[in-house]
Amino acid sequence: MENNQNLASPVVMISGAASGIGKSTALAMAEQSNRLCLLDLNKQALEELKLQLQEKCEIITLCGDVTDATFIQSAVNEIEHKFGRLDYVLNNAGMTSVSKSITDLEFEEWHRVIDVNIHSVYYCLYYQIPLMLKSGGGSIVNISSVLGLIGIKNRAAYVTSKHAVTGMTKAAALDYAEENIRVNSVHPGYIQTPLIAHIDSEMLVAKHPVKRLGTAEEVTALVKFLWSDEAKFITGSQYVIDGGYSIQ
Ligand code: NAD
Repeated sequence: MENNQNLASPVVMISGAASGIGKSTALAMAEQSNRLCLLDLNKQALEELKLQLQEKCEIITLCGDVTDATFIQSAVNEIEHKFGRLDYVLNNAGMTSVSKSITDLEFEEWHRVIDVNIHSVYYCLYYQIPLMLKSGGGSIVNISSVLGLIGIKNRAAYVTSKHAVTGMTKAAALDYAEENIRVNSVHPGYIQTPLIAHIDSEMLVAKHPVKRLGTAEEVTALVKFLWSDEAKFITGSQYVIDGGYSIQ
């Protein structure tokens, strides 16, 4: 079977690419002159990133909501049309839930988190995998969270959604292991990005044995490892990157 990894210029698809972990990964991959397809809801931030990267690499940017299956389908169609293949994927777009107990949560609040954090990953896999199969295989990383492995008080929708990503990763890994598609999940602790800007950072730092938050670049380094040939025997695995948060 064709080995598509460690390619000279792989085609990379990243959701939630305009900020935080997605942006850090887009920047890192653009440095290597790869071909990128970047998705995000935030049109302005996406446009700014495009301006920053378009000198360095071939790039498609698409503004839309990852909970819209037709948006994901058209993104993958555009990748096939422009680049003809798909090699590395980071399914990363996600949101936190409000801090409420289950019985205080509004149905709409629950459904939005479930939609953004679970259904989007399913739609992405649904459309990405057939193109990867045509390309001879590929490597997918789904961003879960430490809260996809353990719980926390008053974040039921987030904890549930991230556990689902952990399970979906294993299911997809088994479905396509024989076809040279690897699927792994990454489980960050608290990472310094706009996603957690509203939470008291001193309180968060204190929860991590290493006494600091993680950086988006540290998560990117792990994603790049999982995409690479160095990780070619790794599939269906859950990689924790949390400064010791979850071992206590
Ligand atoms: P971020 O807010 O910096 O970036 C997320 C990006 O996703 C934003 O650009 C946002 O516009 C985009 N996005 C959100 N919803 C979208 C939608 N429906 N459609 C399209 N784009 C959408 O956050 P981040 O910290 O980089 O988070 C990335 C991923 O990492 C998320 O899945 C998050 O749950 C996960 N994560 C983050 C942390 C952390 O502490 N920052 C910890 C564990 C897991």
